[in-house]
Amino acid sequence: MIFQSFLIIFIYKLINLDLLLFCDIILLTKIIFKQMENCIFCKIANKEIETNILYENNNIIAFPDINPIAPVHVLIIPKKHIASINDLDNYDQKIISDIILAAKKISKDLDISEDGYKLLFRVGKNGGQEIPHIHLHLIGGAKLHEDIRPI
Ligand code: AMP
Ligand code: ZN
Repeated sequence: MIFQSFLIIFIYKLINLDLLLFCDIILLTKIIFKQMENCIFCKIANKEIETNILYENNNIIAFPDINPIAPVHVLIIPKKHIASINDLDNYDQKIISDIILAAKKISKDLDISEDGYKLLFRVGKNGGQEIPHIHLHLIGGAKLHEDIRPI
């Protein structure tokens, strides 16, 4: 009888825990979908906003920055919504290598490879990241300023 009571309590707890976990997962999924709905780079990746696509594969897409700071200024983004480098996990390794290899290819295509260029990931407030969807800036076509010192 005691054993049966323990078993019932154990199963009850398990179901309760699962229910909580289930609710957490639903809530988290809702938050992520909300972020994606409002994300301009998700819209570009989903072709809801038109852009000049410079490179694309299953994982990533590259397009010109709308407000270029140099003769060549390209953004390379994952198609999956990932807010920043801080939010990467081990499953995202392929995405990040695709982004960097795309930068190499695009720099060749745009003929700035030989002279060189800068690659920049901004992260969070101090990094100056304005759009919370990972993007690699590929900047070149001119000699670039060195300044990255604190304000
Ligand atoms: P960051 O400050 O690193 O977050 O960079 C955001 C970059 O996105 C800026 O250089 C903007 O000029 C650029 N940007 C914002 N909206 C668009 C857009 N619709 N298409 C292309 N580039 C954009
Ligand atoms: Zn996004």
